[in-house]
Amino acid sequence: MKICILSRDKNLYSTSKLVENAEKRGHEVHVIDPLRCYMNITSHKPSIHFKGEPLEGFSAVIPRIGASITFYGTAVVRQFEMMGVYSVNESVAISRSRDKLRSLQLLSRRGIGLPVTGFSHSTMYTQDLIDLAGGAPLVIKLLEGTQGIGVVLAETNNAAESVIEAFRGLKQNILVQEFIKEANSQDIRCFVVGGKVVAAMMRTGKVGDFRSNIHRGGKAEKIKITPEERSTAVRAAKIMGLNVAGVDILRANHGPVVMEVNSSPGLEGIEAASGKNVADIIIAFIETNAQEGKTKTRGN
Ligand code: ADP
Ligand code: GLU
Repeated sequence: MKICILSRDKNLYSTSKLVENAEKRGHEVHVIDPLRCYMNITSHKPSIHFKGEPLEGFSAVIPRIGASITFYGTAVVRQFEMMGVYSVNESVAISRSRDKLRSLQLLSRRGIGLPVTGFSHSTMYTQDLIDLAGGAPLVIKLLEGTQGIGVVLAETNNAAESVIEAFRGLKQNILVQEFIKEANSQDIRCFVVGGKVVAAMMRTGKVGDFRSNIHRGGKAEKIKITPEERSTAVRAAKIMGLNVAGVDILRANHGPVVMEVNSSPGLEGIEAASGKNVADIIIAFIETNAQEGKTKTRGN
């Protein structure tokens, strides 16, 4: 097969592992920077150009679209879909996963366990918003934050109120969330491929930090997840419409709660912690699923 990996840099760990494993399995792989693709909008004959040439003959696309280029990146994926090329994660599913509010709404509608969460745009009725989320202690998050930046624990209602007001002053959308204390600064990343959890790891925050992000000094290790955690992760990925997903779960007293579903989950941490060759599993999944014209949405 001729496979296109949409990635900004072929030297990134995840991208290079995908290239290596696809080539090992006998495929021709091209790493294409989505921001350097340009496209035509003509009826019935969509095409994509890169460095002066049309991109042709691809059987599958692996989108590795970073959050900061979601808008243009998903347009490129959509164009491939319109050309009948199979994308391992479809453009609509990637866009959906990048909207945290929409994701939480969709997951809650289908009964997935979530931390009690409030969100608001208005600067009024902060105390009522705090009550809606169950009162302090609360985790307050910037909607656009990543890698644990802009995730703050407020131990009291007064602290929560000050943090919310400070964030609002920055003209940011915020989430106010029940603090899952019993998670003990640990979260579980379940790596889902094709409706199965193929690898899992537990991340533990550095001493004194409730956030488990590796970027914040956390550590990752292999973990055996429970059947309930496994089915929660699989269902969450399915609801989001993602074939490849990183589902982040906290262990709450009342069962697993989903924090986030990532559509371009990194391979480095999970492969190191789990010892699994996740890249190979993704390529094998594509082999059984990519048939020309199989993209259901056709870029809807
Ligand atoms: P980011 O997307 O920036 O990583 P997260 O929402 O994943 O932000 O939060 C970062 C970390 O903070 C999580 O990995 C988790 O360890 C911790 N955390 C986030 N929300 C909660 C919560 N409601 N209760 C307990 N811990 C939380
Ligand atoms: N690579 C990031 C992770 O695995 C997520 C990337 C994204 O989907 O924005 O946590």
